[in-house]
Amino acid sequence: MDTPAGDPVRRAALLSVVLPVYNEREVLAELTDRLSAALAPIGVPFELVFVDDGSRDGSAEALDDLAAERPQAKVVHLSRNFGHQAAIQAGLTYAHGDAVVLMDSDLQDTPEAIPALLAEWEQGWDVVYAIRTQRKEGLWKRALFALFYRGLRQIADTELPVDSGNFGLIDRRVRDAITGMGEHDRYYPGLRAWV
Ligand code: UDP
Ligand code: MG
Repeated sequence: MDTPAGDPVRRAALLSVVLPVYNEREVLAELTDRLSAALAPIGVPFELVFVDDGSRDGSAEALDDLAAERPQAKVVHLSRNFGHQAAIQAGLTYAHGDAVVLMDSDLQDTPEAIPALLAEWEQGWDVVYAIRTQRKEGLWKRALFALFYRGLRQIADTELPVDSGNFGLIDRRVRDAITGMGEHDRYYPGLRAWV
């Protein structure tokens, strides 16, 4: 992707990271440590908005413990499992940063990539997509993913970038537009591309 040339055009007063969580207790501590290590050096204040989507493995309590230790961590508790897309919407609603990163909480998305996403936002881009260069899934599932993204692109009215999932960064204005949409059957990558 081209970037506008020159110095950063803006700086975030707050960066939000939104993390939907469903039964991820075992990785939450590592996830939070890696996020903090990746974000602290940037020097931008950040908040970690975890959404517990009705986990049954103790993730909710583990998140409350994390939030008690770390002022940056916030937890939204959903009353039952509503599904990934609903958890995303809840998290975006509680995210107040100038720039908002959305990522999975199972360490399939790389916390260490966030500074590069933010750097693009600072250059003036309002939507920054992360693309997986390696997938831990097997060949069969990877082929199905590739087929899914290309098939969806064929039938969608909105131009969708291939091979990018939920992981990425949006400007606060994009977040406002997405949270303001009344859609019930939500597909975040589609809404983001449309905005
Ligand atoms: N997730 C969620 N609610 C659900 C299912 C998943 O919030 O009902 C979360 C999950 O904890 C993870 C992200 O959404 O952070 C993606 O889920 P998953 O890893 O199952 O999806 P995949 O990697 O297969 O796309
Ligand atoms: Mg996953």
